[in-house]
Amino acid sequence: MSQSSRVVVVGGGIGGLAAAVALHRAGREVVVLERAPSLEPVGSAISLTPNALRALDVIGAGDEIRSRAAHVGEGGMRTPTGRWIARTDTAKVTERFGDPLLMLPRATLIDVLAARLPGSALRTSCRATLADPGDDGRPARVTTPDGDLTAGLVVAADGVHSRTRGVLFPDHPGAVYSGFTTWRVMVPVPGAEIVSHETWGPGRLWGTHRLEDGRVYAYGAAVTPAGGRAADGERAELLRLFGDWHEPVPSVLAAVRPEDVLRHDVHHVHPALPAYHRGRVALVGDAAHAMPPTLGQGGNQALEDAVVLAHHADGLPAYTAARLPRTSALVTKAVRTARLAMLANRPAAALRDAAIAAVSRTGPAFFVRGFDGIADWRPPQNGRRAAGSVS
Ligand SMILES: Cc1cc2nc3c(=O)[nH]c(=O)nc-3n(C[C@H](O)[C@H](O)[C@H](O)COP(=O)(O)OP(=O)(O)OC[C@H]3O[C@@H](n4cnc5c(N)ncnc54)[C@H](O)[C@@H]3O)c2cc1C
Repeated sequence: MSQSSRVVVVGGGIGGLAAAVALHRAGREVVVLERAPSLEPVGSAISLTPNALRALDVIGAGDEIRSRAAHVGEGGMRTPTGRWIARTDTAKVTERFGDPLLMLPRATLIDVLAARLPGSALRTSCRATLADPGDDGRPARVTTPDGDLTAGLVVAADGVHSRTRGVLFPDHPGAVYSGFTTWRVMVPVPGAEIVSHETWGPGRLWGTHRLEDGRVYAYGAAVTPAGGRAADGERAELLRLFGDWHEPVPSVLAAVRPEDVLRHDVHHVHPALPAYHRGRVALVGDAAHAMPPTLGQGGNQALEDAVVLAHHADGLPAYTAARLPRTSALVTKAVRTARLAMLANRPAAALRDAAIAAVSRTGPAFFVRGFDGIADWRPPQNGRRAAGSVS
């Protein structure tokens, strides 16, 4: 295989692995370079929506994911005292979009993707740097600890703080802090009755879901300056912020050990990049369009990117044209949703809750319609563009 048909993928997260699988299935020689010593993400889960399942179908992984993930069943939105302000029935998502909402450990998704690549395609403990983006007459070049690699295509999937993005677009300011931090846990909670919920309090939110293996995935978020760490540990911080919220939050916190808690500040790419490619390099996932997790779409969009990139691997402007408008609209929508979810002002939060309760009384269609323009996305087919636009 010639070096100009080789694909070098920088980053072995969801976006990088999915792009590698899609390009491998298209007959390209692929090398994935991951700086961490292993691909396994620890301690958190991810939700997938029907659009991502369609992308996974394209790379032959949809059915395995469906069989290994939990359905997010009935549930809804609550206040910190436990009052339901909106009930949701996610069966309606399947009715409308043909697939359910799924929740699964990130490690499962990573395993399923990595299993679709030849072992020789994966290099861990390998920090890569883009040395030259290349152009029509010259391959791209990536520097690694083992020497330089040339490539016909470089997939930059190096995450929210992407160095490659900075090399390609040096005038872009990079990712900005979204104004809140998050905590995630994935633990057994024996005896707890778990009904999926997201609870919005002033400047804070909490969600709890049951996974297929019986464990509980829970996340919290709070408005706070960037870079903070609790002096007495993050479990203690969660108890302070959420310890007096409704069940199952206290039961989950009682089951959590300090070492189970992951804390991450949230950043998003703003303003949108002028393009998702330059020379022979294409950006995918958070490197291109990191967004707050309030729509649960960051990873889902990385999966869409992967199959669209494989479709347009020989014409990167078409990749930018297909992905930039959709994903930058989703970044804007996720930022707006985050502002609403994390309202710190109590009277404003009460008004918000009343409005949600009033609208949701009109029926579960309100919740399901929130996925219009997102979950109805269709992958590109030969001769056709991807379909789906965000309102
Ligand atoms: C609290 C929280 C909850 C979320 N929940 C959801 C959800 O439910 N659903 C959803 O769709 N999305 C969710 N997201 C967003 C999702 O996690 C991201 O959008 C997704 O992980 C992006 O994948 P990625 O492959 O682009 O980047 P990453 O997962 O960040 O992967 C980038 C990889 O590149 C590697 N890397 C970086 N630099 C280099 C280098 N120089 N050389 C080699 N390797 C390098 C990193 O080690 C990493 O493995 C959530 C995010 C947060 C913070």
